[in-house]
Amino acid sequence: MRGKLVVLLAAGLIAVPSSAQAAPPAAVPPTVQSAPASLIPARPTPAQVATALARVAKASDGRVRLGIIGRSNEGRALRLATIGHGPTRLLYVTQQHGDEPLGTPAAVRALWALGVPDTAWHRWLRSRLTIDVVVQANPDGAVRNQRYNHDPSASGDYTEPGVGYDINRFHNPLTPIEDNPVPESRAVLRHWQATHPRVVIDYHMQGRYLQPDGRETTASLLWPTSPLASDAAVTAARRLAVRNYDAMTLAGANVSRYPGGDYEGIARNAYGILGSASLLIELSDLPADQVELQIRTAFVSMLATAQGAADGSLWRADPARADTIPARGPSLPGAASALLRADAA
Ligand SMILES: [Zn+2]
Repeated sequence: MRGKLVVLLAAGLIAVPSSAQAAPPAAVPPTVQSAPASLIPARPTPAQVATALARVAKASDGRVRLGIIGRSNEGRALRLATIGHGPTRLLYVTQQHGDEPLGTPAAVRALWALGVPDTAWHRWLRSRLTIDVVVQANPDGAVRNQRYNHDPSASGDYTEPGVGYDINRFHNPLTPIEDNPVPESRAVLRHWQATHPRVVIDYHMQGRYLQPDGRETTASLLWPTSPLASDAAVTAARRLAVRNYDAMTLAGANVSRYPGGDYEGIARNAYGILGSASLLIELSDLPADQVELQIRTAFVSMLATAQGAADGSLWRADPARADTIPARGPSLPGAASALLRADAA
């Protein structure tokens, strides 16, 4: 991890704040990546998420603040962790699909990395940003290792009848919230309404695919594609995509553009329609020996986004470069993956 961040620093992707800004520290300190390996497993249960978040909050002396934005359909806590008191708000969401876990350990590590150390750089970052993280947005799905929430009464579009709802099809901002049948989606929508984050990133997992050059894809991303999203919101999201593409690529990821749809119930589209710079990130479901790489990819995304939002460089990325991100290629021949499906987002 240290080597990766040094590379990012050298390339200016996790930039040292310029001397023109308030109290700039000399460098991102090495403690930025100091989360202990035992902090959280790769596929944590809701109880393990709760334990890890409590550990982070305690180690941070209160700089990582814990809350609950609602309850799952089965009554489990929908956990929120918050860092900073700055005016620019970011929202990261992990594991809306219960069988797509790796954004969750990445988020817990990012909370540690940004909240536990208390250097000048950390204080600078936290003075500029308020970062909210909905950690494991689908705990009922997580305990069952299933995509959907748990609601045996579910029926209709975007459900598995008798199993539950696809949470990531129920963020439609055009639907009156009292008509939304999915408590996990309602909680995130209400949190958005209460905070109006400038950036929303939603972390998922996909199957296994090839890049145009034949290497294996390790991550894909996409900005809002709904025609209801404003040009300004889409442009901001494309800047965010470029920033994330660069940071993740430099950290060793092979990144492509996700072939997502236009439906406004998808979080990527919904929060773009509402005006945020909104991004979907899909980590590929790679073999076990590459799980750590995948967690680090999401971690780097979270830190690079925070750094870019804090120093403003995020909004100077060239949005036209988003069109140069290669389209996701064909499925990896012979890959065995439960997540290998066309509509995994
Ligand atoms: Zn997903």
